[in-house]
Amino acid sequence: MPEVKEKKTADIKKEADEIKCPVKRALYYIDEFLVGPMCGKCFPCEMGTYEAAVRLRNIISGMGDKADLAAIKKIADEMLLTSRCKRGKDTAQFILEWMATGAYTAHIGGKCPERECKVFVEYRIIPEKCTMCGLCKEACKYNAIVGEKAVPYLSGFLPFEIRQKRCHKSGECIKVCPVDAIEIVDAIEIVDAIEIIDIEAREEAKV
Ligand code: SF4
Ligand code: SF4
Repeated sequence: MPEVKEKKTADIKKEADEIKCPVKRALYYIDEFLVGPMCGKCFPCEMGTYEAAVRLRNIISGMGDKADLAAIKKIADEMLLTSRCKRGKDTAQFILEWMATGAYTAHIGGKCPERECKVFVEYRIIPEKCTMCGLCKEACKYNAIVGEKAVPYLSGFLPFEIRQKRCHKSGECIKVCPVDAIEIVDAIEIVDAIEIIDIEAREEAKV
């Protein structure tokens, strides 16, 4: 059986710090922590880290709730208190530190403040900026972009738009757009905007 090499917590932390979203960062850290051999001497560390990873996955996938937050906090507090080694205590400390940013709570409310968690964002073409070059459509492997390339001196072309149901949020379109006409927005903002349009339409219908 190949030997599982233990990574130093400082090295895992350094790698995790490359990730902007504190929830994703915590999950990366714990996943890497769990790859290494566990001594199994302290119960909250042995079991708690698995449980924390499950709870963090819930939050990242948009299915998290207050119970997940409470469980993660309890696990980290207990690990900090009862872990006998620096490895366990460091892990608890990092989880709490990242939790204090408010990002875990923001995810429960439907937002990833860093716009890194795919489930909470949408890619959108800004019509005022789009020059209708068609490069994004060519780059999209999922045929999620519709629109027609503009031909000089002619009009009536279908504007470029992202069909959200087909979009896998790969980010390839953003990379190729020469005029920064594609933005990442909070999915919740779009829901809010649709609700406002619906309310306005209902009000107009009453007049
Ligand atoms: S993010 Fe990816 S899948 Fe979505 S429209 Fe852009 S290229 Fe296509
Ligand atoms: S690449 Fe940018 S400018 Fe070109 S069609 Fe797409 S959004 Fe518009």
